[in-house]
Amino acid sequence: MKIALTTLLTVLLFNLAGAQGRFDTVDIKTTHVAGSVYMLEGAGGNIGVSAGADGVLIIDSQFGPLTPKIEAAIAKLGKGKPRFLLNTHWHGDHTGGNENFGKYATIIAHENVRTRLAAKSAKVVKAGLPVITFQQGVTVHFNGDTIKMVKLPPGHTDGDCIIFFKQANVIHMGDHFFAGRFPYIDLGSGGSVRGYLTNVENTFANLPVTSKPGVKIIPGHGTLGKKDDLEKFRDVIRASVDFVERAIRKGQSKEDIKAAAFWGQYKDWGTGFINTGRWVDIVYNELSQQK
Ligand SMILES: [Zn+2]
Repeated sequence: MKIALTTLLTVLLFNLAGAQGRFDTVDIKTTHVAGSVYMLEGAGGNIGVSAGADGVLIIDSQFGPLTPKIEAAIAKLGKGKPRFLLNTHWHGDHTGGNENFGKYATIIAHENVRTRLAAKSAKVVKAGLPVITFQQGVTVHFNGDTIKMVKLPPGHTDGDCIIFFKQANVIHMGDHFFAGRFPYIDLGSGGSVRGYLTNVENTFANLPVTSKPGVKIIPGHGTLGKKDDLEKFRDVIRASVDFVERAIRKGQSKEDIKAAAFWGQYKDWGTGFINTGRWVDIVYNELSQQK
């Protein structure tokens, strides 16, 4: 018994060390986006920052072990600690630092984010849960900007927002934009491939209303983008959905579809977390359900 327990502890400690080790080598890279808006890249979802006279507001919190490094990067901007933390959606690579930042920042998110975080695991302590929740959207007036969180219909999950900085002319897309790579769509969290495509198309269609020419677009994953990067992303999603839909209608199997020469043109898009096979799985799994 004692040996078993020791073994168990060793395994646990090893895993913890491994998890920590994974983040030891991560550096937080700060990029000035526009006006008082910055983007922080580390591991997990990109963080948007507004730093100015009113203090600091951040969008998403990456993984918990990275909090000290993120805090150090924010401190360098010289505007203090975050007063607000906005979550684009509930996934752990965007909310893992919530319970650390939540000790002093007010967390704001769609109500499904709170529900899913609370239900998912007892590990998310109360400090990590959104304190202010909403159904449609909320506006934060901060640092001279009008920061609008807009709830999208089910797409990446059932609780995603995109966030507009009206004056700075910046959009944080959350995981409705993976720059230059296939996206993850979480069908198990109320997500939808068709909904995702529609959300991206609508964002694009609304750009003339929501932003000015030269808008900067912060993706959930990947490097800072512009309008044409989002346009390319939309086209890849649309072409993938069309291709898989036609193939299903022709009676092709998932394996046939994965092996198709069609994907050769998107080789670079499958080099991230979602490779071409996983992308086909996601699209096929949804479309094959609804002929
Ligand atoms: Zn996500």
